[in-house]
Amino acid sequence: MGYGIIIQIGIIMSVNLEKLTSLAKRRGFIYPGSDVYGGLSGTWDYGPLGIGLKRNIMNLWWKMFVDERDDIYGVDAAILMNQKVWQASGHVDTFTDPLVECANCKGRFREDKLDNPNKCPNCGKENSFGEARAFNMMFKTNVGPISDENSISYLRPETAQGIFTNFKNVVDTFYPDLPFGIAQQGKAFRNEISPRDFVFRSREFEQMEIEYFIHPDNWKDSFEHWIGECKRFFDELGLPSEMIHELEVMEDDRAHYSKRTIDFEFDFPIGREELMGLAYRTDFDLGNIQRVSKKSMEYRVKGTNETFIPHVIEPSFGVERALMAVLSAAYTEDEVNGEQRVYLKLPAHLAPIKYAVSPLLKNKPELVEKAREVYQLLKQKYGNVMWDDNGNIGKRYRRQDEIGTPYCIVVDFETLDDDMVTVRDRNTTEQQRLPIVNI
Ligand code: ATP
Repeated sequence: MGYGIIIQIGIIMSVNLEKLTSLAKRRGFIYPGSDVYGGLSGTWDYGPLGIGLKRNIMNLWWKMFVDERDDIYGVDAAILMNQKVWQASGHVDTFTDPLVECANCKGRFREDKLDNPNKCPNCGKENSFGEARAFNMMFKTNVGPISDENSISYLRPETAQGIFTNFKNVVDTFYPDLPFGIAQQGKAFRNEISPRDFVFRSREFEQMEIEYFIHPDNWKDSFEHWIGECKRFFDELGLPSEMIHELEVMEDDRAHYSKRTIDFEFDFPIGREELMGLAYRTDFDLGNIQRVSKKSMEYRVKGTNETFIPHVIEPSFGVERALMAVLSAAYTEDEVNGEQRVYLKLPAHLAPIKYAVSPLLKNKPELVEKAREVYQLLKQKYGNVMWDDNGNIGKRYRRQDEIGTPYCIVVDFETLDDDMVTVRDRNTTEQQRLPIVNI
């Protein structure tokens, strides 16, 4: 297992997957799915803090790419779609991973992810794999009470097709000028052969995708624009630029319809791995829909007779991988007054709890009453504010540090006279007194 290195005030610290997974569980971010029944491999449940962080990441993306732009339209398509969607897109035939089975222990593995393709990682037996077979990763189901060929459906393996199938609807209702985009966030499902590495490779996860429709002549400029936009988003996630690497995907490794693909990789605790992808998908998807549905996907340039099927640039983000990158970049260990502490250096706009409010002593009713007042005030203003009167102040600080709360506010006897509170900064641990009205 690889280790990401974090340097904090001259001390070298490492964050590994165990530390991250255990903090996530212990502090209520992410629990293993169906844990009480022994789990279900590749599934994860978000706890109160995890859903807070995840929503903040997804809302940031929506704000940057939908709300703050006037050329991108949001949609929310159904997860279950007509099976023709997945036939036309090629997923039924080709959305596969190479599966090998060990003749000795019967373990099944994804061949292209094996460190040594001739040795079983489970039982250690050499040359025990037979021929790889193509394993389709879509979860198949039937819609309605009759299970036959016509009722087959799939849990969507990507959100993108819900965008392409609504291309014509958006054009007909909004008639936007090219270039314009359609954005969608939502669940995607892949029956991964070996889910692993915390939420990095899950069977149920969430995507944030944009299909940006363009005139084919402009694809290079548009691709550059989206490289910049992806980097802007990474900055807002608080990911250090030196931990992000652009991998130009070579022709042999690209999907056959893609003329250019960049994988943005991140230095995860498990090593350098794909965070998200940016692809020029040409007119492959809309062309397929037109061919199979027999409905025109052509766009007519306003005021002209020029018609063509738009091409598309696709930035495809995975929420879990973004969240895992944010957590690993934020995880920090340092020493305060000779004591080791762990804290999450989350950007304030992503932290699930922005302020924690405490009375200095919880057995002094006048302090509790005043602290409750401050808490209500801030809760109305910011929403994500926590009441914390458990244990002594030191313990509260440690707990809030570990969940990444940027500021802890303490109400003491002086507050009763001057309406000022102590505000403690998570990163520096410095405290200052501020008037309540200024927070
Ligand atoms: P990989 O090669 O790691 O399997 P991919 O190239 O198949 O990923 P895409 O199909 O490009 O992934 O999906 C777009 C994004 O969705 C990925 O960059 C990733 O962030 C996310 N993603 C894909 N598969 C998973 C998964 N099993 N668990 C969590 N996120 C995923």
